[in-house]
Amino acid sequence: MDVMGYAAQSATDALAPFSFERRDPRHDDVVVDILYCGVCHTDLHLARNHGGFTTYPLVPGHEIVGRVREVGDAVSRFKVGDMVGVGCMVDSCQQCKPCLKGWEQDCAEGPTFTYASIDRHDGTPTCGGYSDTVVVTENFVLALPDGLDPAGAAPLLCAGITTWSPLHRWNVGEGSKVAVIGLGGLGHMALKLARALGADVTLFTRSSGKEEDAFRIGVNHVVLSSDPAQMAVVAGRFDVIIDTVPYDHDVNPYMPTLTLEGVLVLVGYMGPLGTPVNAGGVVRGRRAITGSFIGGVPETQRMLDFCGKHGIVSDVEIIPIQQINEAYERMLRSDVKYRFVIDIASLKS
Ligand code: NAP
Ligand code: ZN
Ligand code: ZN
Repeated sequence: MDVMGYAAQSATDALAPFSFERRDPRHDDVVVDILYCGVCHTDLHLARNHGGFTTYPLVPGHEIVGRVREVGDAVSRFKVGDMVGVGCMVDSCQQCKPCLKGWEQDCAEGPTFTYASIDRHDGTPTCGGYSDTVVVTENFVLALPDGLDPAGAAPLLCAGITTWSPLHRWNVGEGSKVAVIGLGGLGHMALKLARALGADVTLFTRSSGKEEDAFRIGVNHVVLSSDPAQMAVVAGRFDVIIDTVPYDHDVNPYMPTLTLEGVLVLVGYMGPLGTPVNAGGVVRGRRAITGSFIGGVPETQRMLDFCGKHGIVSDVEIIPIQQINEAYERMLRSDVKYRFVIDIASLKS
């Protein structure tokens, strides 16, 4: 089927209109008319080849909400008209230990990502949600709970699950003390989810001026990370720190703010840290630096259901797709409140 979208043709070209084909639905496929797609900082990393492995053309987008247009004859959980979500993955081997545990993101063969991957059955490149239609195997389609605003729910499919998964892994609940580094897409979801789980939540930000928004989101305390005096006040406080910073940064100043056996979870940056980690910061107090990668399909559904129950959505700025390049520039300046979401209807204008 013919699909309209937006693609990057190189690391330096602006994203521009792009037509391409998607497969006709296989027996277990769901065809989704895309309504909204969130704009993740990963889209920008991939479009601009920050990792050095992007192939072009690249159609980004992995925070997809839409309505089912058609289903294959073996599909049992979805029907035409259902509101659904599609996140960072569209397939995996479904047989390895991680897959059987519902940790498809860590599939032994590597999951098939929503874009910038190769379809494991027909060998074609996968294309993301900056487009009007997506075709996905049923097992990777999420049910959107009733009552959630579809535009606000789109970022739950990546920013939501990426922060929900470590909050659960590290047992955040009533009485936990959680800090989040960076008030962007992932950061604001981490703060909302941790708060809804019953934690006392603190924002570490390098941007003065975000305090008012942070308190509106429900943050209990804001610490300007560039101010050593403010950092000293929170020494020994946090059980869990979720670090969403997208670029190389020094993690050492945050370590003394962890409590005994506290953990700092890297979710933002995946490259080499330029400033060596001071071993003393982890040895003293049995503290740990760890990481977390998106989350599995079953836990994504649990996160969506939790958000449905608690009325949690992302704070979004809805844009027409024609403004995507400007949105990337604003994201680089940390000028996002707090997730751009593309109204896919704008593709037709
Ligand atoms: P975002 O909306 O741009 O937010 C990042 C925030 O980090 C900014 O708002 C800013 O907050 C802070 N920040 C930005 N640059 C910084 C720097 N150089 N030093 C210190 N702080 C900085 O980005 P996002 O969409 O949340 O994504 C964050 C990162 O997570 C990206 O690298 C993305 O690729 C990655 N990611 C990882 C996973 C995973 O599975 N682990 C999944 C999705 C995304 P303040 O202004 O408040 O300081
Ligand atoms: Zn993402
Ligand atoms: Zn697998």
